[in-house]
Amino acid sequence: MPLRPAGVVIFAEVALPLPLPDPLTYAVPPSWVSQAVPGVRTRVTMGRRRMTGVIVEVHQRRPEGMTIRPIEEILDREPVLTADLLALARFVAGYYMAPLGEVVRSMLPSDLPPWGDRKIWLTDAGAMALPRTPEETAVVEALREGGRMSVAELQARSGLDSLNNLDDVLARLAEGGRIGSEAHRSRSARYVNAVELAPGGLATHLAVAGRSAAGRQVIEYLAAMGRPATVAEVTAAVECTSAVVRRLVGKGVLRQFTQVERLSLDRHILGLPEKDGKIVLRDDQAHALGRIVEILDRREPAAFLLQGMTGSGKTEVYLRAAQEALARGRSAILLVPEIALVPALARTAERWFGGELAILHSGLGTGERHQEWERVRRGEARVVLGPRSALFAPVADLGLVVVDEEQDSSYKQEIDPRYNARDLALVRGRDAGAVTLLVSATPSLESRFNAERGKLEVLSLTQRAGPGTLPEGILVDLKEEGVSRRPGEVHFSERLKLEIHKAIAEGDQVILLRNRRGYAPMLLCRACGEDFRCPDCGLPRTYHRRDRRLVCHYCGSMIGAPSRCPVCSEEALEAIGAGTERVEEDFKELFPGVTVDVLDRDTARRPGGLAALLERFGRGEIQVLIGTQMVSKGHHFPNVALTAVLAADAYLGFPDFRAVERTYNLLTQVAGRAGRGERPGRVVIQTYHPDHYAIQAALRQDDEGFAREEMRFRRVFHYPPYSRMVQLLVRDKSRERAQSLITGLADDLAAHPLGRGVRLSGPAPAPLERLRGQWRFQLLARSANFRDLHRLLEVVLPKNPGYDLVIDVDPQQLL
Ligand code: ADP
Ligand code: ZN
Repeated sequence: MPLRPAGVVIFAEVALPLPLPDPLTYAVPPSWVSQAVPGVRTRVTMGRRRMTGVIVEVHQRRPEGMTIRPIEEILDREPVLTADLLALARFVAGYYMAPLGEVVRSMLPSDLPPWGDRKIWLTDAGAMALPRTPEETAVVEALREGGRMSVAELQARSGLDSLNNLDDVLARLAEGGRIGSEAHRSRSARYVNAVELAPGGLATHLAVAGRSAAGRQVIEYLAAMGRPATVAEVTAAVECTSAVVRRLVGKGVLRQFTQVERLSLDRHILGLPEKDGKIVLRDDQAHALGRIVEILDRREPAAFLLQGMTGSGKTEVYLRAAQEALARGRSAILLVPEIALVPALARTAERWFGGELAILHSGLGTGERHQEWERVRRGEARVVLGPRSALFAPVADLGLVVVDEEQDSSYKQEIDPRYNARDLALVRGRDAGAVTLLVSATPSLESRFNAERGKLEVLSLTQRAGPGTLPEGILVDLKEEGVSRRPGEVHFSERLKLEIHKAIAEGDQVILLRNRRGYAPMLLCRACGEDFRCPDCGLPRTYHRRDRRLVCHYCGSMIGAPSRCPVCSEEALEAIGAGTERVEEDFKELFPGVTVDVLDRDTARRPGGLAALLERFGRGEIQVLIGTQMVSKGHHFPNVALTAVLAADAYLGFPDFRAVERTYNLLTQVAGRAGRGERPGRVVIQTYHPDHYAIQAALRQDDEGFAREEMRFRRVFHYPPYSRMVQLLVRDKSRERAQSLITGLADDLAAHPLGRGVRLSGPAPAPLERLRGQWRFQLLARSANFRDLHRLLEVVLPKNPGYDLVIDVDPQQLL
């Protein structure tokens, strides 16, 4: 604790979660001085609002010419943001041109309870021992009388006036083992509430549940899962409150029990029997691991690109690398692109790391999330698994950061601060002296570029591990099928039908990809042309026939689907094109009696949800799965012998320079789903552009060929990675205003001397010109020299624009 001479006033710079360019200065009253250190949260008043911010700097420079308010309270006894994370926050704020307060907020779990909420109790030793000071006596007496209580309550009861003073007493008592303390509101550290169906048939349960729709859904969910589930899991899947579950427990339909560790509930990996016996690494895997270990031993930063096709054993390598980091007393962060992918990997990681593993993701209940975060902060869990925000886990002595599927655009946060966790992993890894491992079957062009320039060392895996060979690629030229070429149309070609029949006859499973949910992308009146556009977004709504709704997929607004045209009253409505729902209908007509289901965001929300559907598919209860790109990722289904992409062109036509790269990645991933079992698989790609290099390369597994062509395209047109890009987007209710604001910005940027090497595209309406009632205009700024571009923007862009200006550095989605 720094001792400061009396009379010196200390100031704190506080980052508040507001779109302010800079932190605000507050005075630190004497009672809080010892606790006011960078990284702790503090409560302050801003205008008339009380807010929680984070102290980012403490100093003695009195700001001139303004009244400085005092901070009101310090919420943490130890920094919630360590020095390295604060440094990272500063980097993010600078690089992505985002307010520091918003960056800091997005790095912390939301609603992290104050330290004062921590529970304290007297241990047996504490009850026996004699207090040594009056303060100790006060604390011990309060605890003897009141039992377990929060620090805040204890403060009130013991009469110790400042938390500061109480703090020291508690620290002494804790050191001597005389009190116990526990972080936050969590119950006992590793126990969770779980429920299962009581014995008796489903029909009986449903009858007892009565008319409560939520209650019935809970029962159906548990029946579909065929195993116990945590209360958190159930309420998240069914979107109900825990009161619903409690009522069912009360009625005797469910049995409640306490389970150790959420993940232990379900130890089998989807569709894959538990393997026993240690895997012996192949030479290429052993070499990759050897390089990583070598760097770990030197405690130097290094960045690797671990590349190998799906099933080549990349996961095996990085889990072992994490184990090696642990063995050296260091920590590891494992990032995956989507929450949907966490459970599968979590189960595997649990087997490897047991209690050393923490899972940080928003699918957990608040309490669970805080608890996991606390375990990380206290150093109890040193392997952290989660999506992009897990990069900010408060681990000490980071040894390894893994970014699995590094090319995935979900690493980019599409709200402020618009960071890319893949890129930040390299920054955090470098600053921590850690190994950063980017992992992919189809690396992003950025990573390939960095590899060429020696910024990433490539570790490549060249063989497929375990059983399974590369699938056979079958290309179907839809032009030759003589089908019409209306957008959104989907067609089962003769060849595809043949392949499906074959797979079904042999008892194999099939995955069909159609990246569009709902019944049809548009409902059109043939008589008058009405197409039911969303008035806020300006695009046709998608027809969901099962729910009898027309839904805008951009803003979610919906209306009931009419049976005749409300404009001209004709019965001439026609569904144009096909989404997953219609593909399922067509499929059932073509292949009667075959079990089929749909996996997309709509079905994932239904009772039972994603996990149950995947489990049923894994167990072979469903033979054919139709789905959006959700089916293409991560899952491991050894009995899938055939996968098909119904309309590959849907992805090529997007107005985004990454459209081709995404198509290639998706096709490659889909191909990777087939033939992971004993027999070779087949992948059918239906397209109008059979000669397109992305399709050809995916089909032939010619990764280098794809990279060569795509790099050429990017270079010729000055796209990333050959340039750096920043998207500027103005949103406004008025079209004229949006347009004139962006035009003003464009003129200022073009006129500035720093703008000479900067290429401006636009201003132009954004691909989604209207969204949620806002008109959107964009400007793309590109430069081969990022520093110049950044400086230009810093000089020219207004600090407090007073209108809605989005600055997206290294944008991923140009919508
Ligand atoms: P990837 O991450 O590249 O898709 P995984 O690491 O998941 O590949 O490996 C695919 C399967 O092969 C897994 O079941 C894994 O346990 C197994 N596997 C990995 N390496 C080996 C090996 N050297 N020998 C045998 N099986 C392996
Ligand atoms: Zn809309």
